[in-house]
Amino acid sequence: MSLTFPIYLDHNATTPMDPRVLEAMMPYFCEKFGNASSRNHAFGWAAEDAVSTARGQVASLIGADAKEIIWTSGSTESNNLAIKGVAEMYKEKGKHIITAVHEHKAVIDPCKRLAKEGYDITWLEPDHTGIITADQVREAVREDTILVTIMWANNEIGTLNEIHEIGKICKEKSILFHTDATQAVGKIPVSVQDAGVDLLSASAHKMYGPKGVGCLYVRRRRPRVRLTPIIDGGGHERGMRSGTLNVTGIVGFGAAAALCQQEMDKDSARLEQLRDRLEKSILSQLDGAAINGTPEKRLPQTSNISFAWVEGESLMMAIKEIAVSSGSACTSASLEPSYVLKSMGVGDELAHSSLRFGLGRITTEEEIDYTIEKVVAGVNKLRELSPLYEMVQEGVDLSTVQWAEH
Ligand SMILES: *Cc1c(COP(=O)(O)O)cnc(C)c1O
Repeated sequence: MSLTFPIYLDHNATTPMDPRVLEAMMPYFCEKFGNASSRNHAFGWAAEDAVSTARGQVASLIGADAKEIIWTSGSTESNNLAIKGVAEMYKEKGKHIITAVHEHKAVIDPCKRLAKEGYDITWLEPDHTGIITADQVREAVREDTILVTIMWANNEIGTLNEIHEIGKICKEKSILFHTDATQAVGKIPVSVQDAGVDLLSASAHKMYGPKGVGCLYVRRRRPRVRLTPIIDGGGHERGMRSGTLNVTGIVGFGAAAALCQQEMDKDSARLEQLRDRLEKSILSQLDGAAINGTPEKRLPQTSNISFAWVEGESLMMAIKEIAVSSGSACTSASLEPSYVLKSMGVGDELAHSSLRFGLGRITTEEEIDYTIEKVVAGVNKLRELSPLYEMVQEGVDLSTVQWAEH
């Protein structure tokens, strides 16, 4: 098989839509265009039927009941609705929320806003593995804690937090538990029942569905979770999220969920093998290359690697026919090193020199082999040009060097 360029290895930023998803969506643009809330004619019924099928498909993927799925525009909105909605609804009970410093910005920023409004936020910090443990949560819980929000899988390093154990603690203490599972849903088994999750955010475009549609799972029994809506209007989605439903997008999300459920085992086994081959080959051919985050507890298709004595942006230029990201896609416009890596104790130098490889359903073995070759050659070339690397080769310990002030 021949390669086509550029090669896409940034599936944690977004995934291409699966052509089978497009096929499912097509009738809902022009022919079956009804408003799912039109109760009086066949156009509305057809739309409502399609939405209902999709609700079942998404619910099934995460072990929920169809009635517990609230459609949104994506995980950013789902996170905002979960965090701000719970904070407002339960503010008489308490104003303490627990989260972590290396969450996605779509969790961090709503929490920061609540902090400005008088809520008290505990920011847990991971160790070098990147994992938030149940013990950390247990120690942070207080009488006035109303919500714990900890992501299932980290978008930059792919590590998995102790979700099931955290869920158990939250149940014991009767505290609501929200998880941003955007990177986990569709890639690894996720069950809101097994994990004791009360609220969960997911997004179609991270799992081969369309952009602009997502959902918030909101538990209905034991306990029945209540939320103050952010968007008021016609009272759609049990009053939690008003607005005419994006029927086409929702159909696509449903189809994408069904495909993920069907193909998860096959996809993840294949991608894990390719990911491991990428890492093993790179690490065996380059010194000063290291995997960020624990190699054990993480997503099967994510790899984050630091390359000492090389600058990440230059390396991306050197391998420009391969689409990857350095640091986090959301913050890489600034040249700030990744806050996720920094929170794990990765130094500025190494954080600057890191690349994230996100493999996906379309990734082939040939693409991975090409990537290995290009990365190794790119790093070697940059190091040849680097006076720092020359000093290292000569045995100079860079940490002891006195640099001139500037
Ligand atoms: C992509 C992503 C989001 C944002 O989702 P959108 O649907 O693009 O708003 C939130 N959290 C995580 C972990 C993500 O990876």
